[in-house]
Amino acid sequence: MPDDTPSDFIDRDPATGHPRPPRREFKARGSSVERCPGCNLPRLNCLCPYRVTVESTARIWLLTHPLEHHKPTNTGRLIRDVLPDTEVFTWYRTTPDERLLTLLEDPRYAPFVIFPDDQPDYAERVVGIDAVTEARAAGKVPAFILLDGTWRQARRIFRKSAYLDSLLVLPLATERLTRYRLRKPASAAHLCTAEVAVELLRQNGDVLAGQVLDDYFDAFNDSYAASRRFEKLEAPTPAMQRLLLLKKS
Ligand SMILES: [Zn+2]
Repeated sequence: MPDDTPSDFIDRDPATGHPRPPRREFKARGSSVERCPGCNLPRLNCLCPYRVTVESTARIWLLTHPLEHHKPTNTGRLIRDVLPDTEVFTWYRTTPDERLLTLLEDPRYAPFVIFPDDQPDYAERVVGIDAVTEARAAGKVPAFILLDGTWRQARRIFRKSAYLDSLLVLPLATERLTRYRLRKPASAAHLCTAEVAVELLRQNGDVLAGQVLDDYFDAFNDSYAASRRFEKLEAPTPAMQRLLLLKKS
């Protein structure tokens, strides 16, 4: 009964009976590199010595696309390293996260979806940073909801999540150009997730938190980029030195 042998089953498509190409193990770029379990960066330039936690008056809630979660180049995770109060939710189109829904109903928070104001159909929900100041003056904790993914994924999350439809939309107004070097941005004005958080924290008056996250982001960038070149950083960069000083104090 040659048709029932396991090898024949594996090599043929069960639906069509057509032979299939031999399976090859999928390997992501850099998957052979030995990584630190603490920071998920290549061991050559581990980020762990520079991890500093700070407090902020605002909260960051990340709504992360499932394809983004396990990418070592994702910068959303840097935010939680620095600000332990950060909430991270995986976005699924059909099932909203229960905890996120509960937080959205919590009267202690004033949630804002961070998204550009380039479409007319939600113009009435668009606010400026002064709305954040007003929320703080009213005793609320501002919560910035960051849609963590590629530009296309973020737009999809924004459009396909009914529970975001009633929230205020805060476009990030900044002159900053991206310093992210691990993926090529479509435009220098496209900031990565950690950079968006840095600018929001600063605009909210969380100056120290913004600075520490910015330094940690630079340390991540420099460590990762050096490891891709198979170089060991000889000395801490200025951003790394500032983080080390903070850690000692
Ligand atoms: Zn590490």
